[in-house]
Amino acid sequence: MRKFTDKRLLVATHNAGKLEEMRALMSPLGIEVVGAAEMNLPEPAETETTFVGNARIKAHAAAQATGLPALSDDSGIEVDALGGAPGVYTADWAETPQGRDFTLAMTRTWAECEAIAAPLPRTARFRSTLVLAWPDGHDEVFEGKAEGQLVWPMRGAQGHGYDPMFQPDGYEITFAEMDPAKKNEISHRADAFRKLMACFEV
Ligand code: IMP
Repeated sequence: MRKFTDKRLLVATHNAGKLEEMRALMSPLGIEVVGAAEMNLPEPAETETTFVGNARIKAHAAAQATGLPALSDDSGIEVDALGGAPGVYTADWAETPQGRDFTLAMTRTWAECEAIAAPLPRTARFRSTLVLAWPDGHDEVFEGKAEGQLVWPMRGAQGHGYDPMFQPDGYEITFAEMDPAKKNEISHRADAFRKLMACFEV
């Protein structure tokens, strides 16, 4: 595994919620974390059908454009009763002509479970795939997950995306009701970050 020895790392995301979580997860490393929006990077089209494929597109595009090593996250929620949907298309379910609407996406997710009378608990997992890419084209891939179940109605105002309808295993509260520091201990992204840390150990 290639080690990360630079002082600056570009986080290749335009998602403010993800950027905040990734900054917090990297804060112990003492490196400068730069967001893609701060560098005016365009958002590349996510044309692949897997998390790793899309994460590679984002990390390599950012590393090529800036000459900096870049870290991307491609993530989503898989609902077992829906055959793993929305999965790689999690963000797409929130798209509207006015921008992303996650209340709409969560309402659709629950409605599709209702339509097929999916039994309770409606098990689901968040997945996060991190890709660390260097400007010379090398990359390293790390995968994480968090198991849980869908709840309805939505609960909580913290976090982002589908957090208000996801209750992780072992807890009675959703990710959106949880202290962000706690979410950052048990989330899919935290799981992937624990594996990524091997790149930073000298
Ligand atoms: P993408 O990785 O930017 O293609 O989109 C992933 C989508 O998955 C996000 O827009 C969120 O809707 C959802 N998602 C990923 N991670 C989380 C999370 O930690 N909480 C809630 N939703 C998430």
